[in-house]
Parts: sequence; structure tokens; C-alpha cells
Amino acid sequence: MKTPVCNLCGKAMEKGFIPDVAHGTVRRAVWHRGDPEPALLFGMPLGGLSIDKLETLPITTFRCPECGLLQFYANADEE
Ligand SMILES: [Zn+2]
Repeated sequence: MKTPVCNLCGKAMEKGFIPDVAHGTVRRAVWHRGDPEPALLFGMPLGGLSIDKLETLPITTFRCPECGLLQFYANADEE
């Protein structure tokens, strides 16, 4: 994808990602289609959210080096 330009400053934005840290493991944050649903085991909540990996896309984040504005993109071609 083309490097976006900041809507406020007109500067070219820097590509990056949002680390997702859980249980000592660092992963790339993802976008998930639909509303968040609690994860259940035999009808009992597990304290987290239910995730369908087929409904997720990796998130690429661009940051403006001038004002710090962030823009998020969830693109299938970034996997
Ligand atoms: Zn900016």
C-alpha cells in the first residue's frame, strides 16, 4: 500500500504496528469483524473474548512524525 500523508500536517507517515502483549508473549494486534463476545467454556465465561481467526486481519499503523497522529489499516495483503 502507498505511504499515507498526514491529514493535518501533510507529512509522509511512518509505518509501524501495535504490539499486543499477553502472558509474556508479544504479537501483532489484529482487527476483528463484528462485536466483542465473551469467551465461554460450557457456558461459563473465561474472562476473555472469543476470537475467530478467520475474521481477523493484521493491523498496520502509520504515525505522523510531526504531530503524532495515528492511522490504522486492516489489510489482508499485509499478512
Ligand atoms: Zn501530522
